Amino acid sequence: ASLFGAIEMAPRDPILGITEAYNADKNPNKTNLGVGVYYDDNGKVPLLECVKKAEAQLMEKLAPRTYLPIEGLAAYDKAVQELVFGADSAVIAEKRAVTAQAIGGTGALKLGADFLKRFSPNSEVWISDPSWENHRALFESAGFKVNNYPYYDAATRGVNFAGMLEALKTMAAGSIVLLHACCHNPTGADLTEDQWTQVIEVITQRGLVPFLDMAYQGFGDGIDADGKVVRRFADAGGPLFVSNSFSKSFSLYGERVGALSIVAASGEEAARVLSQLKRVVRTNYSNPPTHGGQVVATVLATPELRKLWEEELAAMRVRIKEMRKELVEKLKAKAPGQNFDFVIQQRGMFSYSGLTKEQVHRLRDEFSIYAVDTGRICVAALNSRNIDAVVDAIAKVL
Ligand code: PMP
Repeated sequence: ASLFGAIEMAPRDPILGITEAYNADKNPNKTNLGVGVYYDDNGKVPLLECVKKAEAQLMEKLAPRTYLPIEGLAAYDKAVQELVFGADSAVIAEKRAVTAQAIGGTGALKLGADFLKRFSPNSEVWISDPSWENHRALFESAGFKVNNYPYYDAATRGVNFAGMLEALKTMAAGSIVLLHACCHNPTGADLTEDQWTQVIEVITQRGLVPFLDMAYQGFGDGIDADGKVVRRFADAGGPLFVSNSFSKSFSLYGERVGALSIVAASGEEAARVLSQLKRVVRTNYSNPPTHGGQVVATVLATPELRKLWEEELAAMRVRIKEMRKELVEKLKAKAPGQNFDFVIQQRGMFSYSGLTKEQVHRLRDEFSIYAVDTGRICVAALNSRNIDAVVDAIAKVL
């Protein structure tokens, strides 16, 4: 038998499958709400002004493309730490946080998973039910057993917090708990500040290892407000893992810019951790690419560009919130018996809309509106031109 003879076809990525079906649809009024990308009101993926300006600056310098250090551009790693932990963070001052530039948020998660597999091989990983679909696959492919803790409550369209807390209280010491720092994907349902307090307490008491995934900093309540959860975990002491991504917040999806930060108990411990993290990078892809990290580092370190970025990010956040409000108001008018107010409470790019699989299929088949079978819609793909058609269609399938 040949090497490839017995290989089975791998299952299709469910979300990319939606986009394939959407692309093949000949209806000129088709709408893709299945994506995980921010579109502006013209239905375009924006190229941020701050990015354009940073790239123009970099073009002027035309630096040679040497290898970056294994852990990435120093200026980038520093900027990441200040962004996720806060510029005045004790873990930065005490050199207890180490950061490695990563190939997007996905690459950061993979670095963290591989690192943990080396040093905590028998721990189990816990992810929310549901979670970003790649979380399970990533940690399983690193060799972990992955479990779900209760999270989404379909009845309230919010968080089953009692169930989540109960599950945390049964986990073995050393278990790795993956948490969405803000803007939960796919549900849009986040914990309250008080609920985070309780989660931090249980995690600390039981000796669990928190792994915060922050792919949407700035899309919830603002850069600092969203980062506050990370800061609170850092204040509780280590160990702490934080993966972050600039794919969404800089609209730099294809540049693959993210980072993994780890908080240790002392500067000396952190130095040992970084040395081992570098080995994980070295044996995966040696060192990260230059361009995206340089763009982000330039923007974050240049006051004028930084200000521009904050404004542009705020505009994205505000537009999504406006779409949430409009969706709810328009549905109120078209489907008066139904209550969609929960959509306004949800944060980030997504909403678990409550639409059933059957309703999602009718939206696709009858109206060329594409959503995920779970009912997840990307609110950031709604705009002033498609929202009425979407609302009309939803009202018809309800
Ligand atoms: N974590 C979550 C929760 C995400 O939603 C995403 C991407 N959509 C990622 C990580 C990965 O980010 P990136 O595209 O930067 O790899």
